[in-house]
Amino acid sequence: PEFITVGELANRMAERVGDVIKAMMKMGVMATQNQTIDADTAELVIEEFGHRINRVSEADVEDGISGAEDKAEDLKSRAPVVTIMGHVDHGKTSLLDALRQTDVAGGEAGGITQHIGAYQVKLEGGDQITFLDTPGHAAFTEMRMRGANVTDIVVLVVAADDGIQPQTKEAIAHSKAAEVPIIVAINKCDKPEADPGRIRNQLLEHELVPEELGGDIMCLEVSAKAKLNLDKLEEAILLQAEMLELSANPNRRAEGAIVEAKLEKGRGSVATVLVQRGTVRVGDVFVAGAESGRVRALLNDKGRNIEEAGPSVPVEVLGLQGTPQAGDDFVVVRDDTQAREIAEYRQRKAKEATQAIAGRGTLEQMFSQI
Ligand code: GDP
Ligand code: MG
Repeated sequence: PEFITVGELANRMAERVGDVIKAMMKMGVMATQNQTIDADTAELVIEEFGHRINRVSEADVEDGISGAEDKAEDLKSRAPVVTIMGHVDHGKTSLLDALRQTDVAGGEAGGITQHIGAYQVKLEGGDQITFLDTPGHAAFTEMRMRGANVTDIVVLVVAADDGIQPQTKEAIAHSKAAEVPIIVAINKCDKPEADPGRIRNQLLEHELVPEELGGDIMCLEVSAKAKLNLDKLEEAILLQAEMLELSANPNRRAEGAIVEAKLEKGRGSVATVLVQRGTVRVGDVFVAGAESGRVRALLNDKGRNIEEAGPSVPVEVLGLQGTPQAGDDFVVVRDDTQAREIAEYRQRKAKEATQAIAGRGTLEQMFSQI
């Protein structure tokens, strides 16, 4: 059942709480401002005040946020989304930085790389790869817990001079649980003590059989520091992506996931959105988790204003009313009213969930009032 407090109901009808309580008394319902009432009672009160009833349900939310499935002919191939995982100090950050420098679009005038939690690399041949650079496992698992499966491919970094460590094992477990294919980057191969053969054998113990040993796991010997074989790693990612046949329909209202969100001085709430299908444009009205907004500006990973962003493109969105959480969905909706309704509905649901956890507060409150 759905609940709303008397105070909130009054607020939404733009009526005084006292008047609502009085009206309810006439109906034989004794209630206080903070008391929750069920949807049927609320409906009677709303009618009593002569207001229009607009009950938003889970189904309306679903209708509002998820349109029809795409037809096969509308699907276009999209860039792979890659998360880099591995043990601390094995070179995740260094590898992300090194890969970022392979971007041929990076040298364009005025382009200063911004940290927005994700970036896109354009390769010589025109192919693109999107990298999530939110800190490894935490982001990956947290986002998965919140229902966002944004990663297509995991690049597992293993330092050639250190081998498989606890966080490497964790990363393997998470990737397998999410059924995301793994490419292994054996890093620090510039070091004299590097022993890539040993790493391959260790991988066997974790049921990752390298191609060289007759399996299907691509293993690349790289060095983030010496910039060794980064192109080979990118080729491997593109090859894996091809096998996955990644595609999306760019010609529909945008849907995606929040990769990062924060409140910034002078800019308001800012979120990095990874578009998963459709195209987001300046002026679009959207819901992001339990928040809503209208796109005031879109910025790419180089800090430049852009007009629109399609599938697999990470983009910074300005124009949020509040700050959503990483892993929340981002969905462009029909209009302001729908956006507000869905956001309010979700906020109410979240509040109810915390109230339910807090115990029988509302019931006890009710008895103490009578
Ligand atoms: P992270 O904790 O996985 O993000 O690892 P970092 O990228 O911070 O790297 C940890 C340390 O390893 C730093 O001192 C890096 O300079 C060093 N490092 C990273 N990649 C390489 C590499 O390819 N070769 C060598 N020799 N050192 C590296
Ligand atoms: Mg790091």
